[in-house]
Amino acid sequence: MRIDLHTHSTASDGTLPPAAVMRVAADAGLDVVALTDHDTTRGWDEAVQALPGGLSLVRGAELSCRAYGISVHLLAYLFDRDEVAFATERRLVRESRERRAEQMVQLLREDGYDLSWADVLGDAAGGTIGRPHVARSLVRHGYVSTVDDAFGPGWLGSRGAYWVAKRETDAVHAIALVRGAGGVPVLAHPRSAKRGRTVSDEMLEALAAAGLAGLEVDHVDHRADERAQLRVLADRLGLLTTGSSDFHGSNKTTLIGAETTDPAAYAALVAQASGCAVVGG
Ligand code: AMP
Ligand code: MN
Ligand code: MN
Ligand code: MN
Repeated sequence: MRIDLHTHSTASDGTLPPAAVMRVAADAGLDVVALTDHDTTRGWDEAVQALPGGLSLVRGAELSCRAYGISVHLLAYLFDRDEVAFATERRLVRESRERRAEQMVQLLREDGYDLSWADVLGDAAGGTIGRPHVARSLVRHGYVSTVDDAFGPGWLGSRGAYWVAKRETDAVHAIALVRGAGGVPVLAHPRSAKRGRTVSDEMLEALAAAGLAGLEVDHVDHRADERAQLRVLADRLGLLTTGSSDFHGSNKTTLIGAETTDPAAYAALVAQASGCAVVGG
């Protein structure tokens, strides 16, 4: 069984529509794929409609959170998307993301960069807007040559010249919201240092006590020694471990299925869920 539990579509900052993500998942020989767009379930229905035979879909999302002053991402799987408290929080984060992207465009315009909010908003096409949409506009206008360059400190990088903060849900609260909607919370790329400060072992222990189900260990941003250390920690804290590509289409270079989750960990994850079912297979 090949299982990839973290992918993005045009419902957030991936470049392929949900139906195309399902196709490339099947073409890559995956048996299970999770669709985890930022702060939204917008892509779920299209993915279900387009699901190829033999492929199972885990419906999920990736939530923008803050833990002990540090930005973290929480993967949420198999939750009830209609549960009001959690649905409201996702909406508030999406609204904050839109205001913040508009502010970034405004700051760039004030410095003489000829971007337009309509261009950035049009590129997001109703999906969750993120810095990659602003970055792509900078590329289209020739101000930087790659999306990656636009994430440098001179531009949109964390606390960079045109970086603006967005709403981030307190991680302990987010874990409770996900559990309250019958979902399973897994901390995404906990040791991804390129995004800024990362959480300590003690913080992970506190998140585990708050109801966290697992850690995403096998991720392209993690070195071999970090993966080994996270596995030991997960074992001590009774957390399951996952692996996934964090596929974003052509916005990143990682291929779908590049990292995978052990079938036993996947079974343990599904066993904890009561918000919605795995589709297909
Ligand atoms: P935001 O969610 O708006 O804060 O933007 C963060 C998103 O930008 C992440 O989810 C990644 O998909 C993407 N990202 C971050 N760093 C880079 C980079 N160096 N190159 C391309 N995409 C990036
Ligand atoms: Mn992203
Ligand atoms: Mn992430
Ligand atoms: Mn992601």
